[in-house]
Amino acid sequence: MLTKEEDYQKKSLKNLKVKIKEEMKKIFIKTFGCQMNVYDSKRIADLMKKYGYEETDKISEGDIILFNTCHIREKAAEKVFSDLGRAKKVKNVREKQGKDTIIVVMGCVVQAEDDVIIKRAPYVDIALGPLAYHKLPELLKKVLSKRDSEEGNNFGLIDTEFYAEPKFDYLPDNKSQGACSFLAIQEGCDNFCTYCVVPYTRGIEYSRPIEDVLKEAKSLVNTGTLEINLLGQNVNSYHGEDKNGKERNIAYLINKLAEIDGLKRIRYTTSYPADVDDDLIEAHKNIKELMPYLHLPIQAGSDIILKAMNRRYSASEYLRLVEKLLKANSEIGFSSDFIVGFPGESDKDFEKTIRIVNEVKFIQAFSFKYSQRAGTPAAIMKNQIEENVKTERLQILQDLLFSYQNKFNKDCIDKTMPVLFEQKGRHKGQLVGRTPYMQNLYAEADFNCINKLIDVKIIDATTNSLKGEKVKG
Ligand code: SF4
Repeated sequence: MLTKEEDYQKKSLKNLKVKIKEEMKKIFIKTFGCQMNVYDSKRIADLMKKYGYEETDKISEGDIILFNTCHIREKAAEKVFSDLGRAKKVKNVREKQGKDTIIVVMGCVVQAEDDVIIKRAPYVDIALGPLAYHKLPELLKKVLSKRDSEEGNNFGLIDTEFYAEPKFDYLPDNKSQGACSFLAIQEGCDNFCTYCVVPYTRGIEYSRPIEDVLKEAKSLVNTGTLEINLLGQNVNSYHGEDKNGKERNIAYLINKLAEIDGLKRIRYTTSYPADVDDDLIEAHKNIKELMPYLHLPIQAGSDIILKAMNRRYSASEYLRLVEKLLKANSEIGFSSDFIVGFPGESDKDFEKTIRIVNEVKFIQAFSFKYSQRAGTPAAIMKNQIEENVKTERLQILQDLLFSYQNKFNKDCIDKTMPVLFEQKGRHKGQLVGRTPYMQNLYAEADFNCINKLIDVKIIDATTNSLKGEKVKG
């Protein structure tokens, strides 16, 4: 039982904590697109924390409202402009409450369309390309001092430089937020696939030095990470320097990471088929921490289309690679990306995509209709495919892909798999985790199973998830 004085002190401390929390500046971040963007958003949140900004999931609380954008698909880019309109309304409301709001747009849309942003959203304060986001604190300072010295608020500051010094050197240590963490090892791409904006938005390939990656990995493991997913637009073209200045490949890096005590799982994404070398295949054979799930985008099954896409492999080379990987590790399950209705794709070409799916039997896949991205060679190809043909082909392809995914999941029933539990499920007493094959697994489990790797027997499956037997902590 507390004395009156102790009770008073306790309440005062609580009120003080609430007040400090209320007075702390807040940053609202919305992320569009790929895992690299998710990683970048986390790093920007870490960076801004150093400058006194706490992350919030309520846009109305944001002293900074930041959109980290994606330019891969037209819909994603359009969505940014509708969200910017919403941010403007929030800014107006906050202004009436006497609160300032800084609107920031970051990422690939800025790199590709900064002029469009200026025109369509002149109230944006800061626009940063994906290689310039470490400059946010500096630009923020400039915008705030500009506010103090000038009337009105027109478009603020744009930075779309491809900096020679990598942004990673300016970011604070990356700490775990759970058992699974992303770690960017490579950025940019030199492949220039004819439909893709990445080489124009993220620049040419850059690989982080081995020691930097290992340092970040150790920091993540020391703060609770059990699984690291190595990220890069073309991750397996990684060629980072070791401490002696010698270039090393991703297989070397994976070997080094596997030596970290406490790191249980390693994944990498997104890989490019033509850059899978024998060392990497060997790593799939020898390194037990490397998960037997490989995302290996083929995009199309016709050599004519692959050539038009400027992919540097043929369908038969892709199949040979799959064979080699399975020889090294027969447990590997493949996932892939597909684009249907690429300019010039005939019925015959599309049939070849279907044939590849039937041969590889992908366990998961992402498939999309081709959409024109301004500034890419494919956008101005004459032989664009009609929308209804694309829709029809996508339906056929997805039905087939889902049937293989469903079969793979159903075949897991009665098997026992190691599951890394990451968070609570939708239902009371339920947790969600991931199998080695990136399947979501739901099971009744004690809360203390979160962030643990536990063997679970699969008792049911759908196309999108597995159900596990009850787990005890
Ligand atoms: S390899 Fe991937 S990131 Fe690089 S240009 Fe092709 S699709 Fe874009």
